[in-house]
Amino acid sequence: MNLSELFLGSYARLYSYTGVLVILIMIFVMSVRLFASRRRKAYLSLTIAVAAVLLQYVLLLGTSLSGGPSSGWTGAAAQIIEVASFIMINRAIYQLYNSTKKRHHLYFYFSLFVTMLLALFRANVPRLFEGTPEQLASLEGIGLDVYLMLLVFVFYVTLPHLIGQSRTYKFGLFVFFIVHLAHLINRYMLELPNAALTLVELYVPLLYYFILFLLLFERIVELMQASYRSSITDGLTGLYNRRYLLSRAGQFIRHGYPVSVLFSDIDNFKKLNDTLGHQAGDEALKTVAGIMIEESEEIGIAGRFGGEEMVVLVTDSSVDMAEFAEKVRARVEADAGVTVSVGYSKSRKGITAEQLIAQADQAMYAAKTTGKNKVVKYTASLGAAAK
Ligand code: GH3
Ligand code: MG
Ligand code: MG
Repeated sequence: MNLSELFLGSYARLYSYTGVLVILIMIFVMSVRLFASRRRKAYLSLTIAVAAVLLQYVLLLGTSLSGGPSSGWTGAAAQIIEVASFIMINRAIYQLYNSTKKRHHLYFYFSLFVTMLLALFRANVPRLFEGTPEQLASLEGIGLDVYLMLLVFVFYVTLPHLIGQSRTYKFGLFVFFIVHLAHLINRYMLELPNAALTLVELYVPLLYYFILFLLLFERIVELMQASYRSSITDGLTGLYNRRYLLSRAGQFIRHGYPVSVLFSDIDNFKKLNDTLGHQAGDEALKTVAGIMIEESEEIGIAGRFGGEEMVVLVTDSSVDMAEFAEKVRARVEADAGVTVSVGYSKSRKGITAEQLIAQADQAMYAAKTTGKNKVVKYTASLGAAAK
């Protein structure tokens, strides 16, 4: 078997379609799973769009296995689905970056509507026109084929700025354009298909679907990370939220690791809000949070426990808590334009995360009632006094 037979012969379509199918199945499984767990509209659109492309390639594979040219009803169905699924895939990518805007939905629906009209035209060609079977076949195909090319241009001009990875997206459309151009020239402009163009038509779609896979994969990882992050952090300060902090503290304590908790509360914060405004209050909160994040970076995690209450869960047992708490207090005083009262407590056998944090809170309260802007360590007598 020579090379051209290997890459362009009767098995060529089999390799190429099978390769595309493998990539499509990967995207399909990914989007079904995502839709099942997240119920986002974009994932549903993606699932439906990929299912349509899968169907297109199953039809193409079917015709190539049966040895026939892609004519008859399977060829017609594959071509109609090709155009419709191209629109749907681009709509799904758009939706992954833009949560529902009615205006643009109309745009995609209108494109699908035109596809339907052209499909109707295609079905009626034998009734409306006379000519040799080849002439009729060309006439049947050309409407949708030219329309698909037009869509590539329209999407290239109107969509990239609305899509995050606009360069990858444009490159994908460009690759699709090359493939479709090769197809148009081979089918409508040459007597016999050109070998190089056939090679492009057969194998470059693999690149196109690979780019599509990368684009979707990147975007989905990005969405997942963002939604995970926002579920465990506080939007204003970037600190971990109370729920996450409690769950991490619980984890450490249950596994018997010694942890300490620093509890801080900004002094006279209400007054700052009342005199300088809420905005200034927010700025002070962010500055204090920044200090907490920096100071806790290598020894534990910092979180926002309530309004202006911040907590550091210290998981490095070599840290001297008195020294650490004093450092935090002094830095806030020097850099933030406000002061904090600080309490801390160390875990003992049998204590829960909630109890440990409550103890540090009691120590902080003792700091408040004895002058503010200071550090107090939790002791058993403080606990007794609180009861
Ligand atoms: P103390 O020294 O005893 O802690 O007095 P304080 O005024 O800080 O304490 P208090 O608990 O009375 O007031 C806390 C204030 O924090 C009340 C609320 O308006 C403000 N606050 C809570 N969350 C935010 C926030 O996200 N932004 C701003 N700007 N203010 C907040
Ligand atoms: Mg408070
Ligand atoms: Mg306060």
